[in-house]
Amino acid sequence: MGSGATVFRTLRPRGKHEPDNYANLYDLVTHREKRSVQDILHRTHVAAFYLYCLKKTNYFTMDVDCDTNRRLTDDELFIGSLLLHHLLLLQFNAFEVSELRQLGNEQETVFIGGSIYPTLALLNHSCDPCVVRYHRGTTVVVHNIRELHAGEAITENYGPMFMLHPKEDRLQTLKNRYWFECNCIACCQDWPTLEQMKTNTSLRIRCSHCKNSITVTTESMEFIVHCMVCSKTTKLLPVLKVLQETENKYSVAKRLMDKHNYEKALAEFMALLSLLHKHMVPPFRDYHLCQQAIRQCMLTFGNKL
Ligand SMILES: [Zn+2]
Ligand SMILES: [Zn+2]
Repeated sequence: MGSGATVFRTLRPRGKHEPDNYANLYDLVTHREKRSVQDILHRTHVAAFYLYCLKKTNYFTMDVDCDTNRRLTDDELFIGSLLLHHLLLLQFNAFEVSELRQLGNEQETVFIGGSIYPTLALLNHSCDPCVVRYHRGTTVVVHNIRELHAGEAITENYGPMFMLHPKEDRLQTLKNRYWFECNCIACCQDWPTLEQMKTNTSLRIRCSHCKNSITVTTESMEFIVHCMVCSKTTKLLPVLKVLQETENKYSVAKRLMDKHNYEKALAEFMALLSLLHKHMVPPFRDYHLCQQAIRQCMLTFGNKL
């Protein structure tokens, strides 16, 4: 490992991120220090096997001697150490590559392999991610699925989404697979799943002044609500009007999606999402259903089977 680290120290970009610099890939997290001896030994065996395959297929052009008992050359040691290093970092940084299979109105995501994108690997996980990712050819496309503001972290999803999986399951999955405790907003605020939101009796209205949330119960008869943060008032009537129109707007967009008119459907869903975002603070069932639909539309722009 030492030889690789020494060589790539000189390649490391200073300051600005350089997407094509190999050092960005080499420097991705491996959690080597937290691994058990058995884990490292197992991956070392795999690396040794790959190195053997490279030797057998004449990767090392100078190598005419296939005697397995001789000492490894410096080149072989260097490549072997890189193979091991990559095997260690794959666990925490590899992305699933998938394609979409359209079966009538149903869509199915089909897993076809794994890949490493050093820049994308820098994005942190959130159980409520702000981007969706799909593949076009060998290029990965990352697109936001909600409003993003300057300085806000761009978050990805490593598997469990808050809408579908309860908090305990998500935390366990992330801990087992990626060795971290999730402290995303959905976990910290213990957001309900989509199913649990069906029985929600409160709404989180967005304060029209400071944009913080004001919780009101669905039985509330007030037409003006007070913000605890800025002490100003927000009118409830425009919010209720938007909520009344949501179902209709969602149906229009859904019909377009069902007719496979994904570009138009996406525009409708995006407009609805913006409207909901203006008046409501997540988690909010209609908002997340709309996000799900946006995700579905965008996936159709990627590779298809
Ligand atoms: Zn989380
Ligand atoms: Zn306020």
